[in-house]
Amino acid sequence: MAHAHEHVDVLIVGAGLSGIGAACHLQTDCSGKTYAILEARETSGGTWDLFRYPGIRSDSDMFTLGYAFKPWTEERAVADGPSILGYIRETAREHGVERHIRYGRRVVRASWSSTEGRWRVEAERTDTGERELLTCSFLYGCTGYYRYDEGYSPSFDGMDTFNGQIIHPQHWPENLDYAGKRVVVIGSGATAVTLVPAMADTAAHVTMLQRTPTYIVSLPGRDPIAQLLGKFLPQRLLYPIVRWKNVLLSMVSYQVSRKKPHVMKNLIRKGLQRQLPEGFDIDKHFKPPYDPWDQRMCVVPDGDLFDAIKKDSVDIVTDQIDCFTETGIKLRSGKELAADIIITATGLNMLAIGGLALTVDDKPVVLSETVGYKGMMFSGVPNLAAAIGYTNASWTLKCDLVIQYVTRLLAHMDANGFKQVTPRWTDPELPSTPFVDLKSGYVLRSVEDFPKQASREPWRLYQNYVRDLVMLRHRPLVDEALEFTSPAMQRSGERVPA
Ligand SMILES: Cc1cc2nc3c(=O)[nH]c(=O)nc-3n(C[C@H](O)[C@H](O)[C@H](O)COP(=O)(O)OP(=O)(O)OC[C@H]3O[C@@H](n4cnc5c(N)ncnc54)[C@H](O)[C@@H]3O)c2cc1C
Repeated sequence: MAHAHEHVDVLIVGAGLSGIGAACHLQTDCSGKTYAILEARETSGGTWDLFRYPGIRSDSDMFTLGYAFKPWTEERAVADGPSILGYIRETAREHGVERHIRYGRRVVRASWSSTEGRWRVEAERTDTGERELLTCSFLYGCTGYYRYDEGYSPSFDGMDTFNGQIIHPQHWPENLDYAGKRVVVIGSGATAVTLVPAMADTAAHVTMLQRTPTYIVSLPGRDPIAQLLGKFLPQRLLYPIVRWKNVLLSMVSYQVSRKKPHVMKNLIRKGLQRQLPEGFDIDKHFKPPYDPWDQRMCVVPDGDLFDAIKKDSVDIVTDQIDCFTETGIKLRSGKELAADIIITATGLNMLAIGGLALTVDDKPVVLSETVGYKGMMFSGVPNLAAAIGYTNASWTLKCDLVIQYVTRLLAHMDANGFKQVTPRWTDPELPSTPFVDLKSGYVLRSVEDFPKQASREPWRLYQNYVRDLVMLRHRPLVDEALEFTSPAMQRSGERVPA
């Protein structure tokens, strides 16, 4: 049953890393605005609370995954999940964000009315199933990019015959006892390369079973420059310096990967040769059939995966699964892997804007028929932005820029009396380029449900922090693609040149 509802200026959906960061920015940069955060789960932290598998950690450095406004002060730059969660919650506490969060509210629908100049938002209470209504002037999606209820698990023949446990890392059982057990981890992505070294010392044997290799690079778990500068500089100076150093390094590495893939392939191979045992078959296990950054590259801190592979109790198998058996996995090569526990580190199911059903003036929005504006708003959808981070660098770098842009946008609208801002794609043809240009399996499986991007600014997603910094922070807000209106003008059908 729908209840009487309240109105907030900005409604944030999601209390993860980006929702809490957004709330802090809103409080600082738009202090007069009212806001609330609706969060489907009973706790904050999103990804960093959901994932509980052994060794859970970032694969970016915390100097760039952390917020620009709150220095990361721990020693480890590649940090474990609980430390990241602690950092997010500490930020929320320090900025008084916690009291704005309403837990157990899954936002299911949002309807924009141009006559009222506001969104009607419907949230489902996860305890009672009751619907709650709220209105807001601006909707900000901080919902991450994947389904929380279900990770991606391909089905294999014979799965139901296996006598041991099959576990997806997104649903890790609280007290899983894997001591002395034979474990097979299926996958070659960030989760698999984290799990293997983390389980190696406790399990009897761990096999990483992959169909296709991934590019894997080792980075220092502790940033040597940060450690050196830390001897002379206070945190408030050290943090931005190391942040910028890491931004630039990751940009250079990405650009080299895209423009001179053979150079990057050589560098990665040399690193592998240094860290793997003599005679290890690098071509078979660590030479992907694609170029670096066609798919996300994996980082291992201090080469922990390679150290694990040197142990007798760990191996890596590159093969295809024929079927599961009662005792393990039969491979296409005919080999069999005995297992007590099989972990399907096979990925996520992507989901755009938390699965919200959107309508604009009673017309349903089909996201795949929209074009992303500056990688954060969508053509034809007024007063809505989404925190969508980088795929080739730390998520937060982009989200910080987006929320700062949103606060500028809100201030501009207030100053000029506008109630509605809508990106307008005016070409008769919709571009065909997908919003996310990675060719990873989890992207290809669902990219068709995401918006499109075009080949030029402001409709292109550059995945380039410096470029975005200039575009989102320093360029004028008003451009040909943004339409500013107010309800009175809307009624008379007038378009307002801003
Ligand atoms: C295992 C793992 C490791 C990662 N490591 C890195 C890394 O090292 N570096 C990096 O840059 N990125 C990494 N990522 C990506 C990571 O998700 C982001 O860095 C970051 O945590 C995203 O924060 P977020 O707040 O945008 O989304 P999330 O952390 O996904 O939080 C979204 C929140 O929104 C809530 N929500 C979603 N839909 C709704 C709805 N309809 N109604 C109400 N609430 C809703 C969810 O419950 C959740 O609390 C990793 C992801 C995973 C899964």
